[in-house]
Amino acid sequence: MNLQEYKKAIEKLNLYSRHYYVLDDPITTDEVYDRLYHEVLEYEEKNPNDLLKNSPTQRVGDVVSDGFTKASHLSRMWSLEDIFDSEGLEKWLIKTYKLDSNISFYCEPKFDGASLNLIYENGELVQGITRGDGSVGELITQNVKTIRSIPLTIEHKKRIEIRGEVVIFKDEFEKINERRLKADEAVFANPRNAAAGSLRQLDSAITASRNLVFLPYGVGENGLEHKLLSEKMNYIYKLGFRKPPNSSICQGFETIEAIYEVMNRDRDSYPMMLDGMVIKVNEISSQIDMGYTVKVPRFSVAYKFPAVEKITTVKEIVLQVGRTGAVTPVAIVEPTDIDGVVVERATLHNFDEIDRKDIRLNDKVIILRSGDVIPKIIKVLTHERDGSQVKVKRPSTCPVCGSELLDEGVLLKCQNLQCEARVVNSIIYFASKPCMNIDGLGNKIVEVLFVSGLVKSVLDLFDLTLEKLLELEGFKEKKSQNLLNSLQNAKAKEYWRFINSLGIEHIGEVASKTLSDNFGFAFVDATKEQIIECDGIGEEMAESLLEFVRVNRETIKKLQDILEPLEPIKKEEAKENPFKAKTVVITGTMSESRGAIKEMLESLGAKVSGSVSKKTDFVVYGEDAGSKYDKALSLGVECLSEDEMRKMISGVL
Ligand code: NAD
Repeated sequence: MNLQEYKKAIEKLNLYSRHYYVLDDPITTDEVYDRLYHEVLEYEEKNPNDLLKNSPTQRVGDVVSDGFTKASHLSRMWSLEDIFDSEGLEKWLIKTYKLDSNISFYCEPKFDGASLNLIYENGELVQGITRGDGSVGELITQNVKTIRSIPLTIEHKKRIEIRGEVVIFKDEFEKINERRLKADEAVFANPRNAAAGSLRQLDSAITASRNLVFLPYGVGENGLEHKLLSEKMNYIYKLGFRKPPNSSICQGFETIEAIYEVMNRDRDSYPMMLDGMVIKVNEISSQIDMGYTVKVPRFSVAYKFPAVEKITTVKEIVLQVGRTGAVTPVAIVEPTDIDGVVVERATLHNFDEIDRKDIRLNDKVIILRSGDVIPKIIKVLTHERDGSQVKVKRPSTCPVCGSELLDEGVLLKCQNLQCEARVVNSIIYFASKPCMNIDGLGNKIVEVLFVSGLVKSVLDLFDLTLEKLLELEGFKEKKSQNLLNSLQNAKAKEYWRFINSLGIEHIGEVASKTLSDNFGFAFVDATKEQIIECDGIGEEMAESLLEFVRVNRETIKKLQDILEPLEPIKKEEAKENPFKAKTVVITGTMSESRGAIKEMLESLGAKVSGSVSKKTDFVVYGEDAGSKYDKALSLGVECLSEDEMRKMISGVL
């Protein structure tokens, strides 16, 4: 990097920062930002005389936007130095141990949200201020007061600043984006932007509607006399703040590295987004001795996780026809490594999404891959367009059978029941794990069976014989016999699998279990009223089921006769107890698996549901209970800790 490139890089970083901090609408990934930032840092270290005042290395955040009243923090807020690998950790530890060798560390997740400073006086929340440039931030007290995990009053009467991260849980983020889509509003790129954007609203009612959560990570001005950060934080949690999950006190490279590995491995199972682990010196006196640089504390560092967002290019849009005939576009992107997995495809849901996001061929886009979720395009980088981009045409015919598509806006559908894609995919679905779980009946074999004409529907599978199979290319005796054995093994399975394998629109695994438990073999005769009575089944699902049964009653009967599924045994009536016939939701980490608790409650006659609604009687919560717990509180549903629940049933079991 030379001086000119250095200046250009600073301009670029400042532009990125403005979009990220002020507009809550980033135009690049953290990875790209971090890489350029570190190049700038390196240049400044080698050429200290060239250092520009407006370099992002010299300040926290960005200028505060004009829409809000500004307010000063009582003591400064900081950013964090970041490291990306074990080498970085080793160097940071050597540097820190040089300042003080007699220290331990407090490690906790780095939450990806927006920083917030809360000022309490006489035990009352008086100000909520965003981090802003570290000294001055935006005064958003009214918005902050709508966040339920922020107590309006605390027992501590002396003036204190409590700092933390405001986050949106991942499931809540999906819901907000769904609502925005319906209202034709731009979706948020990720939960961080959604949290920051929701916090900085001129209308507090909007903030209130977003279910934000505050996770404290430190204090600013405080008269606390604890000797350890861990003790200070325990004091803060006891004041009524939510204790963030998974903090630990540790020493030395190996232990920190091990904690980091586990946290990174499990990052997807946290309800909120994490982008790393924060390591802090635990001894307050050592923290004070170490002090700060212009931007970051010397006693703390952010050990970042590998990036899950990458920039890539859209090469092609291909169309997939599912078992229901729905035509789904899939983006083929320039192969990109995301945390060790090469991503080549990204889901696009439907053509409206292409229109709404204005995704064009050859567009540079940000893709996200997190956990098992199929990678998705979260943002189109329109400012990177160079004229080579081509709009994607909405198809009017099925890419597989060529018949005209039904176009209902969001839904594009091939109506041809004999369309190869529909039939093949419905057989593949029938054989899949959550359905009849037939080993050896994968995509390729189903295609061969279909093309050969031997199998044109699920029923035909059970007319296959060794002789017929041996006539097919690639089918030797062993392979053919294995397939026949697998088909034989599909018999006498749980009834919910049978219902699920029918592939009824809107009826998935959970609904199939509900139908099986409530009606058994008689589900085909259930009325709309009876179906809607079942927990978790709505009108649309009921109508879809009734329509399916109306058209396919004969086929269902034939298939059932062949497969002889097991009818669920009606459970014995439970003894009288406080949970009998009650709807219960379980959330958070319990002393044993949630599955075991569910089973126990069900044996008491409770209905265990996955989501909280007004109909819920109890929410039983464990550690780190998330949005379900918050929702229960907001709806006035009775919340029971695990201990409370156990007390209520002692003597019954
Ligand atoms: P940061 O977000 O990397 O780290 C500091 C912040 O972490 C603190 O202010 C605090 O709010 C938060 N934090 C979360 N959990 C914490 C915990 N347990 N303890 C302490 N703090 C915790 O620093 P920053 O200066 O806000 O932002 C820099 C980062 O932002 C960059 O590394 C980059 O990844 C990203 N960024 C991205 C763009 C973009 O365009 N994509 C632009 C600017 C910045």
